[in-house]
Amino acid sequence: MMNKIIFDGGQVLYPSKVVAVGRNYSEHIKEMNSEKTKDPVLFLKPNSALCDLSQPLSIPANMGAVHHEIELAVCVGKNCKNIPPADASDYIAGYGVALDLTLRDIQSEAKKKGLPWAVAKGFDNSCPLSKFYEKPFTDVQNLEITLTKNGQKMQQGNTNQMIFNIGELISYISGIFTLERGDIILTGTPAGVGPLERGDKLICEITGIDSVKTSVL
Ligand code: MG
Repeated sequence: MMNKIIFDGGQVLYPSKVVAVGRNYSEHIKEMNSEKTKDPVLFLKPNSALCDLSQPLSIPANMGAVHHEIELAVCVGKNCKNIPPADASDYIAGYGVALDLTLRDIQSEAKKKGLPWAVAKGFDNSCPLSKFYEKPFTDVQNLEITLTKNGQKMQQGNTNQMIFNIGELISYISGIFTLERGDIILTGTPAGVGPLERGDKLICEITGIDSVKTSVL
């Protein structure tokens, strides 16, 4: 477990929450047999979900499939509410690489029954994060995202494929939840999600942000 966000330059921030976005890449919506929505689909992860992506990942046993979802993570730099999309960049402290680990079998059951995703998305260590990096906002909406598992490229996409871009996400989210300095936003995953097994070796890369080698305990 980890309760802080560590920046490359040494800055440390303490998040109050992780707000995650679902269904933000068309190809992933297709692979999940889901439908596009008018507004971003949001869910929360508790701070107990945070852990270090560079350390071996501890995943739940006997709870069905655990899927990897690589995502660009945005760290909020200033408390904010009701931010217009054009001003969003003023409220960002930096960017990192995240996994939105998902108990897929449990999520599928929950979806069928119309129940919440708290278990499927919020379990301990379900939000591994890299270090964070300050980057110009103008550079982050065209980055290659790749997750390689045991030498095979599983997920591949580009942040320019987001249905709702980062400005739109911060605007929408801040209209619902006051965003606090240090809070993390997960911006959705491209296609290619799949199960993790003990001993898997992963490379989680977003060009221009970070490339993190890790493994599954
Ligand atoms: Mg996700």
